[in-house]
Amino acid sequence: MSEEKTITVTSPLLPDLKEFEKYLEDIWSRKWLTNNGFYHRELEKALSGYLGVPYLSLFTNGTLPLITALQALRITGEVITTPYSFVATTHSIWWNGIKPVFVDVDEETGNIDPEKIEAAITPRTTAIMPVHVYGTPCDTKRIKEIADKYGLKVIYDAAHAFGVKVNGKSILEEGDISTLSFHATKVYNTVEGGALVCRDEATKRRIDYLKNFGFADEVTVVAPGINSKMDEIRAAYGLLNLRQADRAIESRKSTANKYRDGLKDVPGLRWLCDIDGVRHNYSYFPLFVDEEKFGMSRDELYARLKEHNILGRRYFYPLISEFSTYRGLESAAPENLPVAHRLASSVICLPMYAFMEDSDVERVIECVRCGK
Ligand SMILES: *Cc1c(COP(=O)(O)O)cnc(C)c1O
Repeated sequence: MSEEKTITVTSPLLPDLKEFEKYLEDIWSRKWLTNNGFYHRELEKALSGYLGVPYLSLFTNGTLPLITALQALRITGEVITTPYSFVATTHSIWWNGIKPVFVDVDEETGNIDPEKIEAAITPRTTAIMPVHVYGTPCDTKRIKEIADKYGLKVIYDAAHAFGVKVNGKSILEEGDISTLSFHATKVYNTVEGGALVCRDEATKRRIDYLKNFGFADEVTVVAPGINSKMDEIRAAYGLLNLRQADRAIESRKSTANKYRDGLKDVPGLRWLCDIDGVRHNYSYFPLFVDEEKFGMSRDELYARLKEHNILGRRYFYPLISEFSTYRGLESAAPENLPVAHRLASSVICLPMYAFMEDSDVERVIECVRCGK
């Protein structure tokens, strides 16, 4: 085992502790800890402005907005989704008693392949839940055409897509609802947290009732809601962290470019390239390993990095469709998902976080290069 310091796959973006203490003192003096307090309102405003979306509701994590989106749009029956994501995507469908239907993904991006969606539509299909995997925008135009043709709702799991824009427009404006995660491991975090972005004020009001047990006022409960409110402490933390979000994304971009440059002459490795007109957030740096050309399998590379105290992660392996809850579904059959299986067996995400030290980036590059 190497003596070198451990490089983790991610490291949380932390606000200045002294600044946070000032906010904590203010919260202590206000004696208002949750339920749409001052910092909650401030953070909703600040995030709406930063992300360029008028109707945003804060949540206590990134899974409950997915569950609530399905509730708010009264989705039932079957929902078409991708197996190449974090389990929360499909879990949110399952928690609503809806049947997930897996569709294969696009080889280049890992996002749901729109050309395979129509074949999966049945009379019970009511919605599509795609994911902007690694923050790469889905083919939203094609997905909208299909959704409009069949009268389906579209809920984007945008957990990876904080700050992503296409031709200056937020990716969160796509679909009926988009959801974000502000978990500690994400580009922007509130420790745990999340948000739901919708299109109009009436929907936002309904969402705000749903995240607070369905209370419309002191004595009126309009729906069987849940408790998914963000508290004042995390909202204040989030306000501070938002100040450095742009710098964090710039720093990630510079790390991505160092990886690309440092690995460019290595055969058998593929990564995501920047797309014209897209403001990327560099949330992950997935490498897709071609075992034959690289001379080593993905798992061998993973083990080698680990030997050198570099912790890569195999996102997304195993596929969601391989977990015990879902593997019995007809659409989970590997023959239905050949591309997703190919990606899942060849991917490794290299360490990627804001303000990663140059010497650490170089150590990772060196280790991958000598991996052959
Ligand atoms: C992180 C993540 C979530 C869930 O977010 P939590 O805040 O951890 O609940 C959902 N979907 C995807 C794709 C994610 O990566």
